[in-house]
Amino acid sequence: MSVEVHVLASGSDGNCTVVRYEGNALMIDSGLSFRATKSLMAVNGIDERELKGILVTHEHIDHIRSVQVVSKKLNLPIICNQNTFDASHFGDNPHVRISMMNPLGIIGVKVTALPTSHDAVEPCAYFVEAENKKVLVATDMGRVTCQIERALLDADVALVESNYDRDMLETGPYPYLLKRRIDSDKGHLCNITSGEIIKKTITDRRRKIFLAHLSKKNNTPDIARETVSNISGIRRMDLDCLEFKGDTRIIKM
Ligand SMILES: [Zn+2]
Ligand SMILES: [Zn+2]
Repeated sequence: MSVEVHVLASGSDGNCTVVRYEGNALMIDSGLSFRATKSLMAVNGIDERELKGILVTHEHIDHIRSVQVVSKKLNLPIICNQNTFDASHFGDNPHVRISMMNPLGIIGVKVTALPTSHDAVEPCAYFVEAENKKVLVATDMGRVTCQIERALLDADVALVESNYDRDMLETGPYPYLLKRRIDSDKGHLCNITSGEIIKKTITDRRRKIFLAHLSKKNNTPDIARETVSNISGIRRMDLDCLEFKGDTRIIKM
């Protein structure tokens, strides 16, 4: 029995990941347009009838852009905590409530919401366990919480934020206050911190690391891989990330 992780989009333009297990699938965030989401799913061979729910991490637009449309058109429940549901104005869409650290069973997998530190009402990462395979999707975090650190020790596949390069952010075009927000405890994870937490959680277990939510303005795939590789000791070729707009990835276990 296999678990597949499809990274359909990752970054400020939109985030969308699909975890597939035994003919069923869960979407994590739906930050692209409905059209783009449909077409990338088709490219990746995901039948929309497989989808059984959309998990939402937090209410920022790059994560929720098409959540309501996808929910309506594909008749899917939106799975998230109450605060995120309210802040996202999801209205009368079907809602399955999940609370932090309280696992939810759906489509034969166990889903746990893990608290993250980010400027949203109740942001979280998701840890999905299917049989003995464990997937972590953890982005949009200004610092690494102990729950994320523990999940990183345990994950077989981990999408970890590597949002920005410090120098590029400082010398880049963003206004001063936005730079400070990104660099804060409630902002995003830089390449160095990402490399450090990846290194700290290396064990004997095989683990696939995918660098996620790279900034378009303040990072490049090469710099992210280079920095994380130098710090963590993981070979560059073993650190994957999306390379361009419309790029997708399928990680099979
Ligand atoms: Zn985001
Ligand atoms: Zn965010």
